[in-house]
Amino acid sequence: MHLSIVIPLKDEAESLPELTAWIARVMNQHQYSYEIILIDDGSTDESWQVIQQLRGENNHIKGIKFQRNYGKSAALNEGFKASQGEVVITMDADLQDSPDEIPELYQMITETGFDMVSGWKKKRYDNTLTKNIPSKFFNAATRKMSGIALHDFNCGLKAYRQKVVKSIEVYGEMHRYIPVLAKWAGFRKIGEKVVEHRKRKYGTTKFGWDRFVNGFLDLATIMFVGKFGKRPMHFFGLWGTLCFLLGFVGSLYLIVQKLIDFQVAITNRPIFFIALSFMIIGSQLFLAGFVGELIARNAPERNSYLIEEREGW
Ligand code: UDP
Ligand code: MG
Repeated sequence: MHLSIVIPLKDEAESLPELTAWIARVMNQHQYSYEIILIDDGSTDESWQVIQQLRGENNHIKGIKFQRNYGKSAALNEGFKASQGEVVITMDADLQDSPDEIPELYQMITETGFDMVSGWKKKRYDNTLTKNIPSKFFNAATRKMSGIALHDFNCGLKAYRQKVVKSIEVYGEMHRYIPVLAKWAGFRKIGEKVVEHRKRKYGTTKFGWDRFVNGFLDLATIMFVGKFGKRPMHFFGLWGTLCFLLGFVGSLYLIVQKLIDFQVAITNRPIFFIALSFMIIGSQLFLAGFVGELIARNAPERNSYLIEEREGW
């Protein structure tokens, strides 16, 4: 199968017929074998009935319905697990992404040799104040932290080599950082394509301004987990030790003073409290490192690695 098109959706009943018909048109034009995987992420409108109905008209359509709303990441993750195509495309259900981009994305994977290609909504049709401006900051920060040169990390329209989606797990709200997850998994050929973005035709956006607060917290998490997830002591141990030593030197200084001259008061001086706090914080960090190691040791994926090839087996 050439293509799997994975579409997470929540309350997008109105868009679905138009979207699937458009995809089918593009697929037939280029004679791709394909599947459209629609993941109904706990819709409260008629999305699921519409999917069942559409399936009757086009048997390339497959549906998965979640018991309740779990979020876009969970929906994508489930779609990735189910996908069979050589190239996997993700897109939003709201007709803001254009299916006409699919053939070129497909070629960038199969011919140019990218592992993953991310869409870039260069000209964007969303609310300037709540989306476009914060998103510029968000992208700049992610670029800087991850070292991946993309302009638009959170674009819903992306293409992947199948191996990539089978190697990563998207959870929480990590769908914003799939390129980062792919990079951590060892896929370095990450490309970008300027894509057409359109106004939302039906329904309303599911994400508000809080996405940016959560987004930045997730960025901190993902950078930390990617680097120290399997060796937390290397982070907490280092800072814990430094912190403790600093406090220790401070208290040593006070002790020496006291030994030299017993009349000197030490407990009423700022350095006394600073040194004390540093030693306490330092040991706390150190302990956090031990607890982290215990958790990492018991995690089922403590030893997960990806084998690229084998020979002689
Ligand atoms: N979506 C989802 N689960 C959610 C929220 C959103 O599957 O909990 C889907 C939504 O239906 C759409 C896509 O994720 O297909 C992108 O959402 P939206 O268009 O609201 O985001 P925006 O384009 O405003 O960033
Ligand atoms: Mg949208």
